Amino acid sequence: MINSYDPTKNLDLDDDLITLIKRRTKTLGPSHRLFYDKPVHFVRAKGVRMYDEKGQDYLDVYNNVPSVGHCHPRVVEALAQQAAKLNTHTRYLSDVVLEYAERLLETFPEVLSRVMFTCTGSEANDAAFRVARHKTGNAGLIVTANAYHGITETVSAASPSLGNGVPVGNHIRLVTLPDIYRTGEQDPEGRFERDVQFAIDDLARHGFGTSAIVMDTIFSSDGVMSHPIGFICGAVAAVRRAGGLYIADEVQPGFGRTGEKMWGFQRHGVLPDVVTLGKPMANGLPLAAVIANVETFSKFADNARYFNTFAGNPVCCAAGLAVLEVLRDEGLQINALTVGEYMRHRLKKFAARDERIGDIRGSGLFIGVDMVTDGVSKEPDQQIALALVNRLRELHVLISSSGKWGNVLKIRPPLPFSMSDTDEFLEKFELAIYGMV
Ligand code: PMP
Repeated sequence: MINSYDPTKNLDLDDDLITLIKRRTKTLGPSHRLFYDKPVHFVRAKGVRMYDEKGQDYLDVYNNVPSVGHCHPRVVEALAQQAAKLNTHTRYLSDVVLEYAERLLETFPEVLSRVMFTCTGSEANDAAFRVARHKTGNAGLIVTANAYHGITETVSAASPSLGNGVPVGNHIRLVTLPDIYRTGEQDPEGRFERDVQFAIDDLARHGFGTSAIVMDTIFSSDGVMSHPIGFICGAVAAVRRAGGLYIADEVQPGFGRTGEKMWGFQRHGVLPDVVTLGKPMANGLPLAAVIANVETFSKFADNARYFNTFAGNPVCCAAGLAVLEVLRDEGLQINALTVGEYMRHRLKKFAARDERIGDIRGSGLFIGVDMVTDGVSKEPDQQIALALVNRLRELHVLISSSGKWGNVLKIRPPLPFSMSDTDEFLEKFELAIYGMV
């Protein structure tokens, strides 16, 4: 059970929604899913608000792709101007592409000095896996137990959160993240390192070797497992001793969202060999990337040609450049830090009064709320999480859920989310949860 529309539930829907759903069912491939028991039909958006076909507004507490705010005028203007001038691929010289590459690389530690563009996070991870394989000569990958890294054949095989219908590859090993809230484990870093070492040994025994450990640095699909800070260090060291790389998947946490730093990996204080980017990079246009140093990229570059028709085109790069400027000019990283802290503080107050709110995790404006049946058993409660997601949708607030048991509320608004937006969200959150005793 995930947050998705179920046509068999036969809920009372408006006629225009029924018409659109029917058209969609007749035309789109059946793998596509709609959010919520009662799907929403949006026609426009601005800042942190989305508007349905009746002009009613919804508070967006979920979407991290329009990270500098929906339809930000500076991004819209930048991409429109570039679209009116030139749009082509990366086989010609282009100022805007180079300027974007330079500005983007400035946000990384100096050693991470090259960018390779892709269109999606999945493509970025696919390319990163290839880079790691060429560099190390090994095939094995280590990922977290409920990881999601994307949709290509290769990457979905390293995305156990896709469920039993998408088999995990023979060359993939899964490791369990610290869940301190439940286990109370005293040495999470040491235990995680030992599990990773076990995976390394097992990959060696099966003839794969270890090419990389791949980690979403906020562990979003694992249930926003943000703490303790630095717990990945020993595991990364073990992978490096085995000749493997550390690939930091920044598709979710990147671009200032975690508040303290621009990149999620910086919270844990260990430098990756490869970083993958996506979602918020161009505020909704398809722009993603792989970042590494020349040495890491070089074997792959020697052995394989890489050309990606749409990746890093001037229009997407112009939008990406505007995103970086808005992040800086509007202080959105600091906003994520302060508003995120305030939100967690207020949520913790609710948790003290209601044992169904088990744990509040996260960093900046990436927050996970672990819903449980009760404070003693800490049994994950997917039903209440889903009910809350749908109840909030009725109250015109958008969130969703994640985690191995689907019981963690995923709170991840566009970065201009303000203190008063937070108050509004929490007022509705309170209404939703206390309406469900
Ligand atoms: N990595 C992570 C951590 C993601 O959450 C996602 C998308 N949800 C991806 C990679 C894949 O990105 P895309 O959908 O752009 O292919």
